[in-house]
Amino acid sequence: MSENETVAFEGIYSNDFTYLKRPLVRNFEDSNADVIVTGVPYDMATAGRPGTRYGPKGVRSASTNIEWEECRWPWDFEVFSELDVVDYGDLVFMYGDSQSLVDELQAHTARVLNSGKKLLTFGGDHFIALPLMREHAKYHGKLSVIHFDAHTDTSDYDNPFDHGTVFHCAKTENLVDPARSVQVGIRTDYVRDGHEYTVIDAATVNDQSPKETIRQIREIVGDNKIYISFDIDCLDPAYAPGTGTPVCGGLTTDTALKLLRGLEGLDIVGMDIVEVSPPFDHAEVTSLAAATIGLEYLYLLAAYKRR
Ligand code: MN
Ligand code: MN
Repeated sequence: MSENETVAFEGIYSNDFTYLKRPLVRNFEDSNADVIVTGVPYDMATAGRPGTRYGPKGVRSASTNIEWEECRWPWDFEVFSELDVVDYGDLVFMYGDSQSLVDELQAHTARVLNSGKKLLTFGGDHFIALPLMREHAKYHGKLSVIHFDAHTDTSDYDNPFDHGTVFHCAKTENLVDPARSVQVGIRTDYVRDGHEYTVIDAATVNDQSPKETIRQIREIVGDNKIYISFDIDCLDPAYAPGTGTPVCGGLTTDTALKLLRGLEGLDIVGMDIVEVSPPFDHAEVTSLAAATIGLEYLYLLAAYKRR
């Protein structure tokens, strides 16, 4: 380089409009994208503290902290050389109208799946997982779900828009096979008698090695098509304070990342990461955790693709 030449680097604080600074693409059908990142800024099904409508924005901003790394440790390849990922931006729906959210999210999900692509969805409260699972089940058949959460979300209240009834509805609507699905990180009360999902509670996960938990998860889901729904409150409030219903005694971020990495080779068809509420966050702890968990999922897809 001659002494007159200069090199400019874009700061990680600059142009943080999309997840991991991926291209913003609204007409993804015409693209070669494998994965369509979508934000769903919705928090009207929340029972407690709201704010997850700011989740996608928070995650995108925090994602710049991990965007610069060419090869994320301990993977040994660059994810974007294997996997084409674009950010669709946020889903548009009539705010204040939950049915509009359902209709638009299902239409968008169908559009993504029918064009042969996969979704990584950032919520939004956990209710958004229900319209997502409806379309994934329509496309792929009955799913095995790996559900990370402090709560089972299997309440059977008669409320069509509730973030605490999602996995009850997924069962009654025949979207998932509860016998081959698993709920990880649970540490709140649920009706154990007749509960059809297998639960690996948080204390058990924290007491045993990640390898053992991975073995149990893989034994339960087998070779089914898998949908992952990750409620960020699965993590302990120390690792995810920015969420609506924090519960002490949760997983560390490290454990969650190891468990995800342990799913390599499974046929994962989609993932949502929900309940990030930036107004209750500190120092982007929660948003960064969600952004990193999302990247781990992209590595799983890339590793599956290059087999
Ligand atoms: Mn929860
Ligand atoms: Mn939940």
